[in-house]
Amino acid sequence: MVFSDKDPVEQNDGADCGEVDLARRHLLRLGLTTLPFLSASLLLPSPLWAAVTKKATILEPLNKTTAPPAPSSKPKPPRILMIDPGHGGHDPGAIGLSGTQEKDITLDIARRMASAFSVEPNIKVHLTRKDDVFLSLAERVERGCAVKADLFISIHADSAPNHGARGLSAYTLSEKASDQFASLLAEKENHADVKGGLGLPVEDKEVAAILFDLAARHTRNTAQRVKVGFIKGMGRRWTLLDQPMRAANFAVLRSPEVPSMLVETGFLSNKHDESLLVKPLQRQKIAGLMAKELAFLLKSPLFG
Ligand SMILES: [Zn+2]
Repeated sequence: MVFSDKDPVEQNDGADCGEVDLARRHLLRLGLTTLPFLSASLLLPSPLWAAVTKKATILEPLNKTTAPPAPSSKPKPPRILMIDPGHGGHDPGAIGLSGTQEKDITLDIARRMASAFSVEPNIKVHLTRKDDVFLSLAERVERGCAVKADLFISIHADSAPNHGARGLSAYTLSEKASDQFASLLAEKENHADVKGGLGLPVEDKEVAAILFDLAARHTRNTAQRVKVGFIKGMGRRWTLLDQPMRAANFAVLRSPEVPSMLVETGFLSNKHDESLLVKPLQRQKIAGLMAKELAFLLKSPLFG
């Protein structure tokens, strides 16, 4: 990989600020609002970086001044959390040893989490479903994207053939899924092209594809950090699975734009976990703990 011969910190700190602002605006035009700007300048080969900044310069009106905007005293917009209660409608999810249906447990925990966030004025919470209805996995992902969620959390309580398995665990998208991930990105790019979305010449499409990939990597890295912080926090107050930080190719985690995590609150195939999850008081406890940990992470520098 080729790096610029100029110190990237200097690039952000001195006379090039105007150029940096222009390039940032160009990234925003491409919908790359989650891409850390410094990462892009560090990771892009310099000819591509030059192409981005050049394109941005061309797009600016000639008579526009490049003076940096005055610092704003506006309050930060609220963080947006999408909570996704797993399953629903004709899909009951896992069935517990005593007949408990996963879809009911997930919906109740999600509702309790949403009300626990009412004490957090700077976090706005949405649910993918508020009732016992079926949603496809793609619809769930779409709903997170539609509200421009900062974080997407899918709630589950599954079962395992080993009835001894118990405890909470959290999943992010696995590296193994990266090929499919790449093909999803390609599909999205092609779709945008058909609609005339970006409307850029070929060389700019290559730049956009690379930037898009960088943004997707950033999304996955953020989810990974959320998982580590979440599991560490939950482990102080709730029983965890033996290896609680997990990764798998869940369709509901594949958004390239929204950091996504799936939480298995416990195993309905384990009598201890099921006996906890059927009790409203215990569901209230786990919902409150999860809300507290997620609120802490959403307010942390991880989300700017
Ligand atoms: Zn499930």
